[in-house]
Amino acid sequence: MIIVMKKDATEQHIEDVVRTVEVKGFKSHLSKGVEVTIIGVIGDERKFTEGDFILLDGVDNVIRILKPYKLASRNFHPENTVIDIEGVKIGGKEVVLIAGPCAVENEEQIMVSARRIKQEGGKILRGGAFKPRTSPYSFQGLGQEGLELLKKAKEETGLLIITEVMDTNEIDLIQKYADIFQIGARNFQNYNLLKAIGSTRTPVLLKRGFSGTIKELLMCAEYILSEGNVNVILCERGIRTFEDSTRFTLDLNAVPLLKKLTHLPVFVDPSHGTGDHELVIPMSRAAVAAGADGLIVEVHPNPKEALSDGYQTLTFEKFHVLMEEIKKIAMVLNRSV
Ligand code: PEP
Ligand code: MN
Repeated sequence: MIIVMKKDATEQHIEDVVRTVEVKGFKSHLSKGVEVTIIGVIGDERKFTEGDFILLDGVDNVIRILKPYKLASRNFHPENTVIDIEGVKIGGKEVVLIAGPCAVENEEQIMVSARRIKQEGGKILRGGAFKPRTSPYSFQGLGQEGLELLKKAKEETGLLIITEVMDTNEIDLIQKYADIFQIGARNFQNYNLLKAIGSTRTPVLLKRGFSGTIKELLMCAEYILSEGNVNVILCERGIRTFEDSTRFTLDLNAVPLLKKLTHLPVFVDPSHGTGDHELVIPMSRAAVAAGADGLIVEVHPNPKEALSDGYQTLTFEKFHVLMEEIKKIAMVLNRSV
């Protein structure tokens, strides 16, 4: 249920409503928009009715949200959520580029990548330190050493850092190095991990599982939001379908659909979504045209030698072309890169 406050509701009115919600044993979540304040009431919906709140001072309307996700829904937060990380605004007018290798491999590789990504206009550096690999015999990442290298790259270039967290016991360590947590496709319904990340305030990019529906993705976001971490970015990264000519099927329907259903920023990962470096640029263009707030793309100084995901990884030259092309598309949509 959401309680929509009147435009002229005072701080005191808002405080009184929040107190009433909590006294009744429910959790409240405040969403202060430019126009109106909305208070989300979270708890067993059978235990309260609209009448419990409609007569309180300053209340304009009380609406039941029928969707299973509440805090993630646009009803609760009609305006787009914009997450500001050290001046980089995610979910706003700018299309934000996250780029970097699949995994941090060594100092030279990550530093050279960071410098080039910065030069091309990327804002955030990606690189796995703890890698979820299909085979236990494949490269598993450098662990803490990889995090140290990411930190060094940030110190030199100023790029923000995103890296994957696979387990609750890695959160404290990764939090010291990363500006954004990545929750990978294989972990998107790891509810303990979602709750633990929800209790931090570090922004998180939540990838859609490859057999996850849009509704399931939004329910996973709800886990994080309901613990109080409102800095959630959603990411479409391809799903499994009957089509096996590409690694996954990049579901671009997800972009406008998510923008309709939720206020959270929506990113697209054309690297994992296609699995093919030749498809990454066209699908990046399509993602921006479909309304994505940003892209996460794999880039490596020498993709042929990459320890993971080399075939879907762009060279620096191709990353340059990608940036040039999406700038044009963004401009048509009155956005910038
Ligand atoms: C990755 O970003 O390298 C990765 C493993 O992504 P996903 O979880 O989408 O497969
Ligand atoms: Mn990868």
